[in-house]
Amino acid sequence: MAREFPLTPEAVPSVDTNLRRIATKLPVPESLPILEKLHRYEPLAMRGQPPVVWDHAEGFQVHDAYGNCWIDWSSGVLITNAGHGRREIIDAIVQQAQSGLLTNYGFPSEIRSRLVERIAELLPQPLKKVFLLTTGSETVECAIKLSRVHGFRAGGGAKNIIVSYSDAFHGRTLGAQQAGGIPYLKEWIGNLDPGFVQVPFPDGFRTSDTSFDYFERCLHERDVDPQNVAAVLMETYQGASAAFAPNEYMRALRQWCHQHKALLVLDEVQAGFGRTGTMWGFEHYGILPDLALFGKGISSSLPLAAVAGSAEIMDSQPIGTMTSTHTGNPVCCAAALASIDLVVNEKLAANACQMGNVLHRRLRDIQSRFPKIGVVQGRGLVAGLACVKDGPTTPDAGLAWEIVRHCFEQGVLMFAPVGFGGATVKIAPPLVITEEAILESTAVLEEAFESKCK
Ligand code: PMP
Repeated sequence: MAREFPLTPEAVPSVDTNLRRIATKLPVPESLPILEKLHRYEPLAMRGQPPVVWDHAEGFQVHDAYGNCWIDWSSGVLITNAGHGRREIIDAIVQQAQSGLLTNYGFPSEIRSRLVERIAELLPQPLKKVFLLTTGSETVECAIKLSRVHGFRAGGGAKNIIVSYSDAFHGRTLGAQQAGGIPYLKEWIGNLDPGFVQVPFPDGFRTSDTSFDYFERCLHERDVDPQNVAAVLMETYQGASAAFAPNEYMRALRQWCHQHKALLVLDEVQAGFGRTGTMWGFEHYGILPDLALFGKGISSSLPLAAVAGSAEIMDSQPIGTMTSTHTGNPVCCAAALASIDLVVNEKLAANACQMGNVLHRRLRDIQSRFPKIGVVQGRGLVAGLACVKDGPTTPDAGLAWEIVRHCFEQGVLMFAPVGFGGATVKIAPPLVITEEAILESTAVLEEAFESKCK
């Protein structure tokens, strides 16, 4: 369960380097009216992030309006792959806005044609049809629909089961939340659809058995006949921990899905567009999904998301039955085209790989000093440190929160994820981060563990 940061300004040591500056109490006393207004008018559930009022952000840094500056390890929430506030993206947005076309629903527009072509050309076969939406959750809902339609066609009405994973996060809408694997987030649903079944994610940490046999055994224990599985839906890496599955497991899963006429759906909402050191997260596994879902880093800015798949799957719905009011909004398309150009032209996936090596080496050093870090997971520029207590895999949310708070006070900004009982310290900077910034920010992280694990 996420915890709230108090709104009482406290004196913190000042920080002044080339990359970070903390020169006030935190939260900043002058910012309290804004924070209080948000508390008054927004639901409680919106709280939980460090109380910095974002004013502007550039590259891998976030600034408030009071002279403070943080190295950003959040990328918003893994949005700004090409960096915050990139001039090229701003210009593309302004140019499109000035053209006078601000929206066009599903009516044809040239800019939407360019974006779907660009994404399809970057993706491997058979992912050559692209449906644009606005949020990651919508892509998951769309994938559920396409999967069930596929299941009905391939095996009749009983082939409607969507298998997904414990601790998974796929969004907050009804279907996406049921496909998710974090039980307390589903309590509100009440009558859970029995067509959603979760099995343990083979992370090698909380689930020690990472063999594919275990997947099959778990389905058997849950009375799931493989013939009734319409799709397996998986985050390419788990957002809650940054854990990847073993390659052998993924190859066996790919084979199993073929054998049982089930779709393999990879949720790349976090993993796509360079984050993990390759353009697509699934490249690490050497397999191809039937459907891939994108969001967040697709535009580094405005809300846009996409489902990609083969013509056979994507064209399974009749004309006019897959629409959304803001599908491929022209201004969002302009932002996405500019962001994709930056990711490709500046080789940001390669930078994520190189900088990720620096990051993960430092994190492993830090882990070796502090037994309260149960595991370090992730690849490229995403990492999760699991804080543990009283046993090798028991979450320590209190420690993770203290670490996030310490880093925030020292000019390194992270969000607090909900997975692994709130005990993951998640690191996901913009892909333009430099080695200097990684070394400086990981030194702050190390000090945080030193001060909290005495
Ligand atoms: N899938 C994954 C893997 C995600 O991380 C998220 C958001 N954190 C979503 C789906 C949902 O995306 P959105 O918040 O844009 O609906």
